[in-house]
Amino acid sequence: MRRSIGAVLLLSAVAVGAPGEPGPAPTPTPDHHDRKADDIFHLEPLPGNVYALFGRGGNVGFFVGPDAVVVVDSQFKEIAPGIIEQIRSVTDRPIKYLVNTHHHGDHTGGNEVFRAVAVIIAQDNVRKRMLASPATILRDYPAELEEAKKAGNAEDVKFLEDGIAWAKKVRIEEIAAPVVTFDSELRIHVGGETIDVWHTPPAHTDGDSVVYFEKANVLHMGDVLFHDIVPFIDVKSGGSVRGYLAALDKVIARVPPDVTVIPGHGHVTDLAGLKAERQYIADVLAAAQAAKTAGKSKADFLKTVDLPAYKAYDGYKNRFKDGCAAAYDEAR
Ligand SMILES: [Zn+2]
Repeated sequence: MRRSIGAVLLLSAVAVGAPGEPGPAPTPTPDHHDRKADDIFHLEPLPGNVYALFGRGGNVGFFVGPDAVVVVDSQFKEIAPGIIEQIRSVTDRPIKYLVNTHHHGDHTGGNEVFRAVAVIIAQDNVRKRMLASPATILRDYPAELEEAKKAGNAEDVKFLEDGIAWAKKVRIEEIAAPVVTFDSELRIHVGGETIDVWHTPPAHTDGDSVVYFEKANVLHMGDVLFHDIVPFIDVKSGGSVRGYLAALDKVIARVPPDVTVIPGHGHVTDLAGLKAERQYIADVLAAAQAAKTAGKSKADFLKTVDLPAYKAYDGYKNRFKDGCAAAYDEAR
């Protein structure tokens, strides 16, 4: 069985972000953010001294205050020094705080580099999931490795083998998990700016947070927003389709209509971008609900489901049905 992009993202989520000392070098993941080596970063200035930084993996956001820089997400270990270089291209103020929007490796892999300078902050479940990742890998990967071998998928085989080797070697205390964790929300005060970190209902994972820079009126959504991209719902990490809807509704109700929005993946957008994803999730749920109500089996539903309005979304071909399957399971 061919591994879906969603599964690859999930796998990369667990293994790539994990410390590579003394394990294998991080495995490159086939995500849509891969760029040429000389063209990794693109820096976009936003209002209120906030910047969006596009590289490989989840989008980074950072705020430059009078005495501190606050960073949101850290992409991968091997490119984290480049992230710091990009921050240094606009300021020499100290990087004091790093917020992780969730535990996935394409958002936390650089923690290993940042932890030397910054206090790493995230919701309680992010730390729990990062510390549990070796056990999770040793539980889940061996069966997946057998499947990948049977399917002759060399890329997945290498990925899974590297992950298992890492999980066997790593010591839990080496994992660069957040050191300040919170339950529902937290605020960071830097100069005149207040930075709200809001834990949302379980959407992409059960440790999701979004980060709102109040004065700048800029919102970093983490992976609660894939802009113009089919969202990945990591059900194994507590993600939920209904939760996605609830999370988006909560955030939409909390921010002003002229907010600037950094998604976890995709280009900078605005309130319309949030609403578009909300509509997508609502449409997937409605399709699953209609199928279930009509007595269709999950297999039949997945065979026929199609939402042509979203065909242009990145991931429609290979990730759309994973979300539909989750929606069917959650339909009443
Ligand atoms: Zn993610």
